[in-house]
Amino acid sequence: MKGLCILGATGSIGVSTLDVVSRHPEQYKVVALTANTNIEVLFDQCVSHKPEYVVVVDEEKAEQFKKKIQGSELSTIQVKAGVKALEFVSTLNEVDSVMAAIVGAAGLLPSLAAAKAGKTVLLANKEALVMSGDIFMQAVKQSGAKLLPIDSEHNAIFQCMPAGYVAGEPAKQARRILLTASGGPFRETPIDELHDVTVERAVAHPKWDMGRKISVDSATMMNKGLELIEACLLFNISPDDIQVVIHKQSIIHSMVDYVDGSVLAQMGNPDMRVPIAHAMAWPDRFDSGVKPLDIFKVRQMDFEEPNLERFPCLRLAYEAIVAGGIMPTVLNASNEVAVDEFLNERIKFTDIPVIIEKCMAKFSADIADTLEVILKTDQQAREQSYQIIKEMSL
Ligand code: NAD
Ligand code: MG
Repeated sequence: MKGLCILGATGSIGVSTLDVVSRHPEQYKVVALTANTNIEVLFDQCVSHKPEYVVVVDEEKAEQFKKKIQGSELSTIQVKAGVKALEFVSTLNEVDSVMAAIVGAAGLLPSLAAAKAGKTVLLANKEALVMSGDIFMQAVKQSGAKLLPIDSEHNAIFQCMPAGYVAGEPAKQARRILLTASGGPFRETPIDELHDVTVERAVAHPKWDMGRKISVDSATMMNKGLELIEACLLFNISPDDIQVVIHKQSIIHSMVDYVDGSVLAQMGNPDMRVPIAHAMAWPDRFDSGVKPLDIFKVRQMDFEEPNLERFPCLRLAYEAIVAGGIMPTVLNASNEVAVDEFLNERIKFTDIPVIIEKCMAKFSADIADTLEVILKTDQQAREQSYQIIKEMSL
């Protein structure tokens, strides 16, 4: 029986994780669940999964949650508030595995704490890895933590790696990674119509049902940009050896090309419970609840090269990883600000890459060798991005 902590339990990945857990009560015990503000969903999850701890980051909502459980059978749950409590639950002795499913930079510290504490880290929160890079990978190595990718592409690549492969090591005899992308909702929209797209259209992904931030990232293809950087770190490979491939059917989730010419692919229905179940059962396998792939319904699979003019965010991510140092941290922070401003209808969809490019131009690729440097850069890039947005709207 393994103890599980889910950081970001109320989000899309958190909900899918609990769905998988409920199929295997003999293998996983939910020790801790965390949420930012959504105490309604959290309450229902507590009724079903009876955790020992919950964290509600928002202090006021945490108080409301405590009142909600008073006098009920849930009253024994220890309720904690604030960001520090996230690190507390992700390093508890009773916790063996941590699902890192908070969105954005907010997930860095508790995910890193889990890595330092030698936990099995199931990593969905790609922003945490992109912004902290080698620091995260070194923490995993030093503590002997296990790092298993949840992002469907990286999970697919991991599955295509040689037996016994450990994340962070160079993959023997693998010469290239083919990183697949659906192309998002605007794969074929005329480029000159993109500046008018609404939030509603941008978050309506054709193949995957996800949180709002990653849905916008998929529409700009910054998601693939972040995943390119994520792949460089997880698989110790140069960006030159990664080819992004648009595969609109989202049946193949990525491929590894070996020196003998063998190309291994992992396929399946586009449902995050597949990579979640893979990582949770690893090195074994168990049922994810996803229906079998109907290969006859797939019929056809297409593959195209991405157009960097249509998707400038992908170009910016290449530039950031090639520049190295703090540049991926800058890229990520600026993107988080720009996407948030877009979701709040304060900027246009096509402003997103403009803001990020201007922000990156304000920084040089200094070495990112400490957590302090990372956190300071993240803060500065956010401030710069807000300043750029202010100047753009004058
Ligand atoms: P989501 O928006 O649905 O959920 C986010 C979760 O994080 C929620 O539980 C929320 O309470 C919590 N959260 C948000 N802001 C927080 C803060 N400031 N402090 C603490 N907690 C906070 O997001 P999601 O789609 O589940 O994505 C989660 C992560 O997984 C992201 O990094 C995303 O890129 C990655 N991911 C998601 C998918 C997917 O299919 N949804 C696929 C691959 C990777
Ligand atoms: Mg992905």
